[in-house]
Amino acid sequence: MSIEKSRAIPSPHILIIPIPLQGHVNSMLNLAEILCLSGLRVTILLSDYTHDRLLRHASLDSRFSSYTGFRVATISDGLPDDHPRSGSRVVDIVQSLQEVGGLQFRRLMVSTDGMSDGGARPRVSCLIMDGMLSFPIPVAQEMGIPFMHFPTISACGLWPYFCVEEVIDAGELLLRDKNEDKLTFWKRKEMDLMVTNVPGMEKVLRRRDLPSFFRVEDVNNAGLQSIIAQIKRTRQAIGLILNTFEDLEGPILDQIDKHNANQNLYSIGPLHLHLKELLKAKGKESSHHSSSLWKENDDCIAWLDSQLPNSVIYVSFGSVATLTRDELLEFWYGLVNSGKKFLWVVRADSIAGDGIGNEIPVELEEGTKLRGLMVEWVPQELVLSHKSVGAFFTHSGWNSTLESIVIGVPMLCWPYFADQMVNSRFVSEVWKIGLDVKDTCDRLLIERMVREVMEVKRDELLEKARGMANMANKAICEGGSSHLNLNRLIQFLKSGASSKL
Ligand code: UDP
Repeated sequence: MSIEKSRAIPSPHILIIPIPLQGHVNSMLNLAEILCLSGLRVTILLSDYTHDRLLRHASLDSRFSSYTGFRVATISDGLPDDHPRSGSRVVDIVQSLQEVGGLQFRRLMVSTDGMSDGGARPRVSCLIMDGMLSFPIPVAQEMGIPFMHFPTISACGLWPYFCVEEVIDAGELLLRDKNEDKLTFWKRKEMDLMVTNVPGMEKVLRRRDLPSFFRVEDVNNAGLQSIIAQIKRTRQAIGLILNTFEDLEGPILDQIDKHNANQNLYSIGPLHLHLKELLKAKGKESSHHSSSLWKENDDCIAWLDSQLPNSVIYVSFGSVATLTRDELLEFWYGLVNSGKKFLWVVRADSIAGDGIGNEIPVELEEGTKLRGLMVEWVPQELVLSHKSVGAFFTHSGWNSTLESIVIGVPMLCWPYFADQMVNSRFVSEVWKIGLDVKDTCDRLLIERMVREVMEVKRDELLEKARGMANMANKAICEGGSSHLNLNRLIQFLKSGASSKL
């Protein structure tokens, strides 16, 4: 075959569709870059809103400038610009995309003959999308394009969704009374009863550890029912990709593999670390590239530089969580009264209702001047790897959890919603690399737990955390489980993504 001819053979073209939220976009961009490095062509479909914010605050263009096979396509998420897209309103994004995404996607795919450019870029050969999105499926099926799911959450966070009907049938779903407030519900003793219908988690999972979407008044709740329908649909996918590794979640991955026997399963994480390793192997620099939807604060690293090693607790509840004023104050008192230094990310949109207001107790202001720094957004991976950071007070989002695992930083977990409830349980009870304070938000408890994670239990947590960090590093190196699984995935995508590999 002549060189000219081999050049003319187009490489397969993969279309990636994340839920347009920070954590999901981060994982999918990492996957996109990994696929580009393997010589695949990649288009990522973003919402206009997310794309605008990436252009404003992230370094998307410079990050992907050397990959000629990379493209961004956009559609509208159907929400007005001033929609909060956070807190409990975040579900509107998926709901709206399901309503308005299908038609836009069809137009895009038809008008471009499956996103081809008539030249080197062929039509899409496989679609990789978030498990909670189904609007692209009818078009993909009509055009004969196979699709895979990449839910971007943990295996332990995903598995209870697959078992939801068994949990309901066994009466293991605790239903909230109609007029019962959140705090009274959380305090109910039955919340601590074990769930026995999620195989492999019988000794770990309490009712309070089930994904928050299971906390309903009625099993016919529209949100819960739509999740059940969605989970059933995921079985139509030819494969499932997970951002995890076998030494971390092997037994749960086995359960999922057994349950979805018709699908290829690829655990290829931690993706951000995997990407760094692949860049290194190709002699490419892996300098900090922001994929942030908020402007990163530049001063926090200098502030950390001026602190003693392991003296700071880094606090962030991610990109979606919102706090009430009361919750914020309880955390704030807990942090200040712990006497520890703290770096706390408080997004401008993260206080529900009328915000924090002007009346901030003077002891909090003074305590923060002495020991704290509060900022709107940070380069989190850089912060976590800073020598001054001794622990991470987190909402247990899966990206944050993995970023902490990779560095070996112990965690204090206050899960906000969704799969985070399960993640924090695994962090504390299975991996033993952190403490879980879910469903409590009390200044005395927070003060005590901050001291526990930073001081009292630090050595035992650190030993486990370092062990897990080593395993994460092994998984993505030559011969490691995630490395082998990634090779298998790339071979699968290059072969046309049609047969089981
Ligand atoms: N993140 C960041 N800066 C911050 C807070 C978070 O870059 O100040 C990143 C973090 O590194 C992670 C993502 O935002 O990759 C949050 O994703 P995660 O799955 O942890 O939680 P979510 O935001 O989806 O609830």
